[in-house]
Amino acid sequence: MLRDIELAFIRLHILHHAQQEEVFGVGLMAELARHGYAIGAGTLYPLLAKLEKAGLLTCRPRAVGHKQRKYYRITPRGRRVLRAMKAKTRELYQELVEE
Ligand SMILES: [Zn+2]
Repeated sequence: MLRDIELAFIRLHILHHAQQEEVFGVGLMAELARHGYAIGAGTLYPLLAKLEKAGLLTCRPRAVGHKQRKYYRITPRGRRVLRAMKAKTRELYQELVEE
């Protein structure tokens, strides 16, 4: 249950960062760890694939040295979802933390 809630927060983090810049798995793992979320590749990559399949992220593979790295950006639909969730997050925050 706790994990479900954390995963929802993690999705929002991913959308937020993918709105600001191109993101990739290893970079996101470091960013999420900074926020106190432990998420491994086995959880993160399927999550990114799901967000892409849902049309919230687009993926562009690019060569980095001899390796291919998948870069993700937010889509217009992702922006709409993020905006809606921001409003809900603000409301939740006010009730949860400020009252
Ligand atoms: Zn973050």
